Amino acid sequence: MHWSRRSFCYAAIFSFLFTTNAGAQNQKAPIQITADLSDAPRKLFHAEADLPVTAGPLALITPKWIPGDHRPTGPVDGITGVVFTANGQTLPWRRDDVDLYEFHLTIPAGVTTLHAHLDAIILTNVSPKLAYLEWDKLMLYPANVPVRDIPIQPSVIVPAGWGIGTALTPVSGGAYPVPASGSTTHFAVTNVEQLEDSPILTGQYFREFALAPEISPKHYIDVASDIAEDSNLRPEALAEIANLVREADALYRSHHYNQYHLLLSLSDTAGGLGLEHGQSSENGTAEKAFSDADHQLGDADLLAHEFTHSWNGKYRRPIGLYQADFATAQQGALLWVYEGMTQYLGNILAARSGLRSQAQYRDVLAISAANLDYTPGREWRSTEDTAVAASILRDGNPAWGNWKRGQDYYDEGELLWLDADTLIRKMTNNQKSLDDFQKIFLGKGGNTGPLVITYTFDELVRDLNEVVPYDWVTFLHDRVDKINPRADLAGIERGGYKLVYADKPNPSETIITANAPPTANVGVNAWYSIGLRVSADSEIKDVRWNGPADKAKIVPGSKIIAVNGQVFSPDVLGAAIRDAKGKSEPIRLIVQLDNFVSIADIDYHDGERYPVLQRVEGTPAYLDDITKPLASSPPAQPKATTGNQ
Ligand SMILES: [Zn+2]
Repeated sequence: MHWSRRSFCYAAIFSFLFTTNAGAQNQKAPIQITADLSDAPRKLFHAEADLPVTAGPLALITPKWIPGDHRPTGPVDGITGVVFTANGQTLPWRRDDVDLYEFHLTIPAGVTTLHAHLDAIILTNVSPKLAYLEWDKLMLYPANVPVRDIPIQPSVIVPAGWGIGTALTPVSGGAYPVPASGSTTHFAVTNVEQLEDSPILTGQYFREFALAPEISPKHYIDVASDIAEDSNLRPEALAEIANLVREADALYRSHHYNQYHLLLSLSDTAGGLGLEHGQSSENGTAEKAFSDADHQLGDADLLAHEFTHSWNGKYRRPIGLYQADFATAQQGALLWVYEGMTQYLGNILAARSGLRSQAQYRDVLAISAANLDYTPGREWRSTEDTAVAASILRDGNPAWGNWKRGQDYYDEGELLWLDADTLIRKMTNNQKSLDDFQKIFLGKGGNTGPLVITYTFDELVRDLNEVVPYDWVTFLHDRVDKINPRADLAGIERGGYKLVYADKPNPSETIITANAPPTANVGVNAWYSIGLRVSADSEIKDVRWNGPADKAKIVPGSKIIAVNGQVFSPDVLGAAIRDAKGKSEPIRLIVQLDNFVSIADIDYHDGERYPVLQRVEGTPAYLDDITKPLASSPPAQPKATTGNQ
């Protein structure tokens, strides 16, 4: 039976436990791959690989569907300089006419090792001072074989003096950290599935910090930055990140890794990044994102989100999102669990660990809830459809994005799981919560090494019913599959708060906007008033469908030249919205679309509007209970590590 089609049952966990890591030992010799990152500052990686082969036709393939990306982002278009040799002779190859990720060769008689050289053009997540190595950028391996059954031994060469952070095991099996080296660093044999899941962060200004050493197994944060001082994280940030490890330990009460490495790049040029793995995560932020509490606020949940994925997404994965190879399409229907529940848990953990305050948690929740409530596309498209269509919604153009909808399963999922959490609390008089569900759902099987256990919708419902019996099928279908013109605000309201609109941004929105990196080009948020998002340099990013600016026939992509006769600036537009309150004259814009200039009169008179959560006195404040730290309580069970370490 195809592995990923096997439906989950409780007994199956244990058979998986015993087969997972044993597979590699039954196989032939491992592929040997050396990634050479000496040219990383020039946006080039090189690879030399030796593959065990037998005479006859051979199909090699590169990954297409990258786990965690939820779409076919395999890097085949960046692979160049491919040369195959055997016994000193160059071997011809031909690309498959249908599957462009596949290379066909004929191995001559007597050849047992094929050498492959390739280069990869790497345009993101590298800078002159640091680089992420994602092995899928360089891997060629036999097609039509489950990737977990292909043994591979990796090595890496980094620029002289650059440090290395990774969850890969050094060949000696020795202690972390891996020493910085200009020479080759060898790692233990693993398999193609695990290697794809085990990136390396390397950089000139590299530091590794151990986190919460009282917790087993070990946790580290590995930091590389473009500027020397920034990788030396300030003590307050390190303490909060260590709290994150403690809070995750207290919440999930299990782990599914042998060691965990939070990899963090700080760079204004390498680009933002958040990609989960079983034993590590790639996190990329602006250079100064951890330099003080205000800069930290915008990305405060990033580490918590990606760390949570080790449990929710990597260990527990929707059956359609796990495939035995990287060639078969992933199916996103349950991404409102994989990503949506992670969005919920990441934000909670950020608050519980102090990366955000409870008040900041509420401010950020208000921002995402309001955005969903003012997404008119929900009038035609269900949340489930945004998940099913995930691979065509990522990186979409913002123009009319609110009518199209984007990857709303993240924030919709957050509201949905908040709804479920507060409902459980209400039904049990706050004796049980979604925390109890996590212990059942994410901790099934106890502590393990890296492992995937797939699940279905039915298992989700069974586990919710184990916490508290309820009609969870209807609860979930109503919120996920149906057309809901309004966002699910029930969790906020049951949590003791109300989403309202004020005439000033909430304190967190003000801080996030003021500390956004210049590349974010943050301008005016007039979404809840005239229905426009405008960048600092006057470009209209989106127009809210059926809002006041839409009725004035304004086009996304236009530039605002003037507001009420004054040259545009964010302040001038804000002042015009305030001044129009209670008056009858429209707000007059002069806008430029391509080579044409026109006048748009916006009939809007309700002033500026920004979302904030307001406490409803006299109701239980579950929202505050949800964001309180757990880790100060004594651990519910011993922390001893078991399973296939
Ligand atoms: Zn995620």
